[in-house]
Order: sequence, then structure tokens, then C-alpha cells
Amino acid sequence: MSRIAYVNGQYVRHADAAVHVEDRGYQFADGVYEVCEIWQGRIVDMTRHLDRLDRSLGELRIGWPMTRAAVEFVVRQVVRRNKVRNGLVYIQVTRGVSRRDHFFPPEDVAPSIVVTARSTSPEAASAQAAQGIAVVSYPENRWPRVDIKTVALLPNVLAKQNAKEHGGKEAWYVDTTGFVTEGGSTNAWIVTKEGTLVTRPAESGILRGITRAVVLELIEKEGLTFEERPFSLQEAFEAKEAFVTAATSIVMPVVRVDDRMIGNGHPGSVATRLRDLFHTATDFQMV
Ligand code: PLP
Repeated sequence: MSRIAYVNGQYVRHADAAVHVEDRGYQFADGVYEVCEIWQGRIVDMTRHLDRLDRSLGELRIGWPMTRAAVEFVVRQVVRRNKVRNGLVYIQVTRGVSRRDHFFPPEDVAPSIVVTARSTSPEAASAQAAQGIAVVSYPENRWPRVDIKTVALLPNVLAKQNAKEHGGKEAWYVDTTGFVTEGGSTNAWIVTKEGTLVTRPAESGILRGITRAVVLELIEKEGLTFEERPFSLQEAFEAKEAFVTAATSIVMPVVRVDDRMIGNGHPGSVATRLRDLFHTATDFQMV
């Protein structure tokens, strides 16, 4: 079966899918995106993801490429046409195609939209979660508007590549005061020796993760102790557990930060439980 992508009004073979060379996403990273998880044939938390897309677009003064209902329809179609039961759907909107010029294009230039979907292996993800991942710290070097989910991910690419080259699966950004902000494509969490869950407030310095929000609701439901405050790299080294959250990995235990083992070096019970319970707290839309 060949993969199908949606590009500006058309469903095309993935191998042939393309945008114009003067798309502003391509030339200026002038665009935003969302990634939703597909779980057992259902789209997870699409409403929250499209709410955040709306916010990202608004912050950059990019219009919706079509109505929100139409975007939802296309997302479902792309998932269906690719027969994805477990995987990810990717939505990207840019400021459109126009002669290269830093200034915004004329009003009549329509935003571009691309939607793709792919399958992932739940078995591989579970095996990874049973093992846990290593993260590698990296100096925070991104622009201050990381609350906007833009496609300008070069710093994230470099930080994650550095992590990979040092045996890690994720990078943890550390600001100039020694506090962890977030991962290259995840939010960062620890569980202290006393059993308190800690994650950084989303007011600044991080993306307000949808998975993070769901986990916060789970924590409340489960009656776990929780503090929304910055934590330092040193505190992470001494934590009982650590984990990361994102639509691409749900709740993923962290067992090593740099060359320090976290807890006993195995996935912690809190992270594992939150992962197990995760889909009891999410909203679903049928494909
Ligand atoms: N932080 C960054 C920098 C991200 O890129 C992502 C997801 O891509 C997240 C956090 C997690 O966000 P979400 O849970 O909405 O996937």
C-alpha cells in the first residue's frame, strides 16, 4: 500500500508530495505544526492539539488554511487512507508561497497545509518504555518563544543529535541558572526521593505539552503529590525517577541523565503507572 499525504487541497502519493520551493516554511521556517497520537484507530486529543495550533497560528498572525472542521476532516481522511491504527498524524501550516521577502506576503497569499500520517509499533514503544531512555543535557540556546510550536527546530535537531552521539534518546535543555527547561521534543519531569512529581511551569521556557496537561490531570485524579516548579540538573541527578512526555512517546521513563543513573537505573513505578493509565485520561475522536 502506498502512503498518502494531503498537500494544499489534494491527496497525493507520499512519494510525490511536495510544496513549492518558495513556501515560507521552507525558506524561513515560517510555520507551525502539531503531532497527534493515533491509538487503536482513534485520534488522541485532537481538540486540544487544534486549540494549540490555533494559538500558535494566532501568535504568528498566520490564518487557518481552511476551516477547523475541514482540517479535522482531512486529518481523519489521511489517517484512514494510510490505514494507521497506531501511529502519528502530522499537521503543518505555513504562511504560504510567495516571492522570497522577509516581510509578510500580500493578504491574498493563502497559508499552506500539509498532513501526513505514519504507523508506529506499540510493541517497540512498550519495549523502549520497559527499558527506559538516557537523556543528555544541553545548554538552552533557543529563542524565548518556545511556547509557539513552530517548525523552526534547528536547535532541537542539534541538541537531539548531540544526545544521540552520546548514547541518549533525548536532550534536556539546561538554562544559564542550571534549571532544566524541557527536552528537545518532550517535556521533562522528575519524581523526588519523597515521591513528589515535579515539572516546570508552562508560563515560559517550555512548550505547553498536551501530554503534560493530560498527565497533570491524571496526577490529580490519582491523588499524587505534585509541584509545578523548575528543577535543576543536580536535582534530577538525585531524583528517584525521571521521565519525559510527548504525543510521540506518551510517558517515557528516563533511567540515565548524562553519566548519572537515575534511581536504581530502571523505569520508576510512578512513570510506569502514569504510562499505563495514560489513555484512561485522554479524549478520543474516531477516525
Ligand atoms: N516540548 C517540545 C519542545 C516539543 O517539541 C514537544 C512535542 O513535540 C513537547 C514538548 C511535548 O508536547 P506534546 O505533549 O503536546 O506532544
